[in-house]
Amino acid sequence: MADYDAVIIGAGLSGLCSGALLTHHGLKVLLLEKRSYVGGRAASIKHGKHILDDGPHMPDESGDLEKLFKTLGLEYPELLPYPMGDGWINGEWISMREAFPLQEAREVLQEFAAISDEALNDYNDISVADWCKTRKNTEEWSTMFRYFAQLLLVGNKFEDLSMGELIFLLRIPLLQGKRLSQVGGTVSGGLTSLTEPLRDIIENNGGEIRLSCPVNDIVIDDGKVRGVEIETGDPLFPSQVLETEVIEAPVVICTLPIWDLFKVVSEDEFPGWYQDWIRDSGKRVSHIWSLIYAVEEPLWDIRTFRWVPRLPRTGTFGIFFQHQTYGDDADETQVNVVIQGNYRDLPDLNQWQCAKTRREVRRILKCLEEDAVELIPGLVEATKWRIGQASVFGLTEAPGNTAFHRPSMRVPAVENLYLLSDSIREARGLGMQSIAKASLELGELLNPMKNV
Ligand SMILES: Cc1cc2nc3c(=O)[nH]c(=O)nc-3n(C[C@H](O)[C@H](O)[C@H](O)COP(=O)(O)OP(=O)(O)OC[C@H]3O[C@@H](n4cnc5c(N)ncnc54)[C@H](O)[C@@H]3O)c2cc1C
Repeated sequence: MADYDAVIIGAGLSGLCSGALLTHHGLKVLLLEKRSYVGGRAASIKHGKHILDDGPHMPDESGDLEKLFKTLGLEYPELLPYPMGDGWINGEWISMREAFPLQEAREVLQEFAAISDEALNDYNDISVADWCKTRKNTEEWSTMFRYFAQLLLVGNKFEDLSMGELIFLLRIPLLQGKRLSQVGGTVSGGLTSLTEPLRDIIENNGGEIRLSCPVNDIVIDDGKVRGVEIETGDPLFPSQVLETEVIEAPVVICTLPIWDLFKVVSEDEFPGWYQDWIRDSGKRVSHIWSLIYAVEEPLWDIRTFRWVPRLPRTGTFGIFFQHQTYGDDADETQVNVVIQGNYRDLPDLNQWQCAKTRREVRRILKCLEEDAVELIPGLVEATKWRIGQASVFGLTEAPGNTAFHRPSMRVPAVENLYLLSDSIREARGLGMQSIAKASLELGELLNPMKNV
C-alpha cells in the first residue's frame, strides 16, 4: 500500500495551494521541499524589523487566490493597492491619465472585454507593437500598451510580447467592472500572509511538509507513477553517490517551473518532441530585478506607482513603488526600484555559476542604482540600507510562447504525473493568481469526492 495519496514536489505557492486543496478534500499528502523554508519564488524573509518579499509580488485583480482562500474557509489578506500612476514622459513625471488617449481607449477596451475566448486566440501570435501600428494614433497607443504590456506580461520590449495575452489579462478586471488604473497591490503583512495560512491548512488536515528534502527522481513503472526517490544519509565525500529511498504514492505533482522538469524526472520517460519542448522553454524566460531601499519616510506620495518607459543606463523600463515595511514594529518605508525584461535583455541567471554572468549582473544593478539616484531625488541621503536582487520570473509571454502554447498539467506517456506552476497552459494569467486558478482545476480533478 502506498505511503501517501499524493506527493507534491516543491512547497512554493503551487505546492502550498494544491497541498491545501488536496488535504482539504481528505487526501493524505506529502510535500517535499528542497530548501529549508516554504514559499519558493514567493518567499518572505525577515530582515531586522522588516519582512521582505523577494521582488514586487503584487497579486493582480483576477480573484482566483481569493476564490481558493474562500474554498478553504480562509480569510484573504488585505491588498494595498496603488490608485495613482505617474509616467516619466519627456523628462518629467506626469499622471498616466494625461499620457493616454483615454476616450478612444475606453471604446477599444470595451471591445476587448466583449471578445470571445475563440476570437482572442487570433491575437496570440500578434505582438503588442504590431497591433499598435494598426491604430491611427500609433504613438499614443504605443505609450499606453507598452505600459500595460510591460507591467502585466513582465517584459521589456513590446515588440516581443503577445497582444492575445495582454487582452486576456486586461479583460479580467474589465469583465469584473474594475478600473484599469489599479495594478493590483502588495500583500498586507508580506507574502507570508498568503503562504502561512495555506501551510497551516495542510498541517492541520494531516498533511506533511518535509523541508531540506530534495527529490532526486520520480519513480515510474510501465508508464505509471509509483512515487518519488529521495537520497538518504549525509555524504562523507563530495563525490559520494548516496543511497536512496522510495516514497510510494499513486499521484505525483511536480511544481518546479517547467524548464526544470528534467531535474526531477529522467527525460527518457517522455517522447522526443516533448523533451525538446521542455528543454527549449528554459531559454525563453523573463526576469525581475530589484533594488529595495529602506528609508524613514516615503519619498513621494506612497499611493502613486511610477513607471519609466526607458531608464537611461539599464535601457529597460523601470517601475518605482513604495510601501510601509511589514513586521510587528516596523515603521520604515520600502522603496522598490524594479526592472523587468526577457531573455534578450538580461543575462541568463541559469548561468549564475559562470563568473561572466555574475559580473554582468552586478554591472546592471549598478546601472540601476545610478538610474534610481538620478530619478528619485533624496534617495541617497534617506537610505538606511539596500538590497539588490535578480531572479527569473517565469516564461516570457511572447507570440508563440504564451500560456496558450505551453505544456499542459497532464504530461504525455506518464500516467498520474501532473505539472503545476505559473508556466503551464492551465495557468493562463499572471503569476500567483494564475497558480491559484490552475490549483483549483487540479484540486477538482483529483478530488475523490467528485464522482461520489
Ligand atoms: C522577483 C519576482 C517577482 C514576482 N512578482 C510577482 C507579482 O508581482 N505578482 C505575481 O502574481 N507574481 C509574481 N511573481 C511570480 C510568482 O512569484 C510565481 O508565479 C510563484 O511564486 C511561483 O510559484 P511556484 O510554486 O509555481 O514555483 P516556485 O516558487 O519556483 O516553487 C517551486 C519549489 O520547488 C522547490 N524545488 C526545486 N527543486 C526541488 C527538488 N528537487 N525537490 C523538492 N523541491 C524542489 C523550490 O525550492 C521551490 O520552493 C514574481 C516572481 C519573482 C521571481
